[in-house]
Amino acid sequence: MLCPFCSHKDSKVIDSRDAADGTRRRRECLRCGLRFTTYETAQTESLLVVKNDERREGFSGEKLRTSMAMACAKRPLPLGAIDKIADEIETQIIESGRAEVPARLIGEMVIERLKVLDRVAYIRFASVYRDFADLESFREEIDSLLEPATEAASANQLSFLEDEALPSAPRRRGRGRPKKPQPGPA
Ligand SMILES: [Zn+2]
Repeated sequence: MLCPFCSHKDSKVIDSRDAADGTRRRRECLRCGLRFTTYETAQTESLLVVKNDERREGFSGEKLRTSMAMACAKRPLPLGAIDKIADEIETQIIESGRAEVPARLIGEMVIERLKVLDRVAYIRFASVYRDFADLESFREEIDSLLEPATEAASANQLSFLEDEALPSAPRRRGRGRPKKPQPGPA
């Protein structure tokens, strides 16, 4: 966002609050020091995303939410978790003051957060950013691979929302072969 007084491109946010029509930010120009107000919705329209093939397109918070929602489909996430992450990322990008942001960077910001939020969603999303052609088939494969292992992983994240783990489920033993006496040092 250019300063409306001197057209300088760098400003700092001195106040930020959510309003019904977007986030209102009070900014101070780093060159002339004058203050002005911006709204997140107005700013994001001018932010460009640079795709891997160098094409540019306008940043879309909606698109960000949609791609995250796909990765999080049917996962037991708290209400609003996707919006919260999308808002965080959008805010972080805007506050960086950049006019253009690489799609790869946005992808990494999402991956970083999904990794903490939900392991399956994280892998689904990461797979898209590694150019898997068919998300649906990859998702099914990963889901089947991960379901047994996620019981332990989800115990500290959202297990209260999931079906109780079966107490009678047999524990998996070590998958290696039984240990045999090793030959002595060569
Ligand atoms: Zn200025």
